[in-house]
Amino acid sequence: MKKNNERTVSIIGTGLSSIFSCLRISEALSVRIQVFDKARGLGGRLATRRADGGRFDHGAQYMKINEISNLKEIEKLINNNIITNNGESERFFSPTGMTNIAKFLLKDFDIKKEHKLLSINKDKGHYILNFENNETIPTDDIILTCPMPQTIEILSNSDIDYDYDALNELKQLEYHPCIVVMIKSKNKLLNLNKELGSELDFKNISWVGDNYLKKVSEIENFYTVQCSPKFSLEHFDLEYEEINQILDKNLKDIFGLNYEVMSNHKWRYSIPKNFYQKDSSLILDSSGFIGICGDIFTNGKVDGAIRSGISMAEKYIKYEI
Ligand SMILES: Cc1cc2nc3c(=O)[nH]c(=O)nc-3n(C[C@H](O)[C@H](O)[C@H](O)COP(=O)(O)OP(=O)(O)OC[C@H]3O[C@@H](n4cnc5c(N)ncnc54)[C@H](O)[C@@H]3O)c2cc1C
Repeated sequence: MKKNNERTVSIIGTGLSSIFSCLRISEALSVRIQVFDKARGLGGRLATRRADGGRFDHGAQYMKINEISNLKEIEKLINNNIITNNGESERFFSPTGMTNIAKFLLKDFDIKKEHKLLSINKDKGHYILNFENNETIPTDDIILTCPMPQTIEILSNSDIDYDYDALNELKQLEYHPCIVVMIKSKNKLLNLNKELGSELDFKNISWVGDNYLKKVSEIENFYTVQCSPKFSLEHFDLEYEEINQILDKNLKDIFGLNYEVMSNHKWRYSIPKNFYQKDSSLILDSSGFIGICGDIFTNGKVDGAIRSGISMAEKYIKYEI
């Protein structure tokens, strides 16, 4: 059977792996594509937040494009000033914030935000997507791009057949958590502003980056602070107020007495600890099409998520129904 505009593929998530699956499938096939995300914003771990007139990137800070520079979408992002670098640097970022990349690339797609997928079942040859808001939406094919534990949770709650052996392997995959603190400082961190940010040897804090330097914030001294994986794991369930109190000494060592915490974010799944080694994406059910992809299939980074999304799209395009 040919895939045509009577066939619907549903893509879960709006991170980069999803985005590149969407772009490549829509280019090659006339299938109907519907995209869902549990969040209110687009981009997944590309995340930007406003506070007090400034802005913070609080997820991915930059992308290395060495391995993907030949992609037409990357060229388009550069030509439209959606991503840029500082001079010769190999690190590309998005002035006004990393979420801009998602907004720009997804502008022509039908996106349903605040749709958290809970489970899937099958009815009369179609899959049915069951969402937390009680909507049930039919689809022919599905691509799941959530961090692996979230994909596994969806599949575990689902009444469908799939490759259980593959899933058991995927259950071994884990991510580091990351607590992020968004700081407005009185002082400029001259010695920490090497390139876009600096890795720190502090026990609790592993990285600090300047949002003004990236032109994400129009106001100076808006810094993103990433806590170390160990600190994030041990303190993940505490309230932000407690976390910020524990970090106060470290933050004073970095910023001096005059700093203000503008916001916090907790990523339960930030960077993978281990990776799926066998392929850049996976088909789990071939009686319809359930595919899974994401950064854990490659290198746990932005460019890897892009490569995984493209790999998924290529499999879907080739797949005979
Ligand atoms: C703090 C931090 C700093 C980072 N720094 C860098 C960096 O500097 N450079 C770099 O290259 N990489 C960095 N990364 C990693 C990079 O962000 C990721 O590799 C990449 O963005 C992952 O894309 P993805 O599409 O695989 O997943 P995601 O972006 O996580 O997308 C998954 C999507 O699925 C959605 N979702 C999950 N569950 C459901 C559900 N049940 N129903 C509906 N939707 C659901 C989520 O909301 C999300 O939109 C960083 C990550 C973090 C957290």
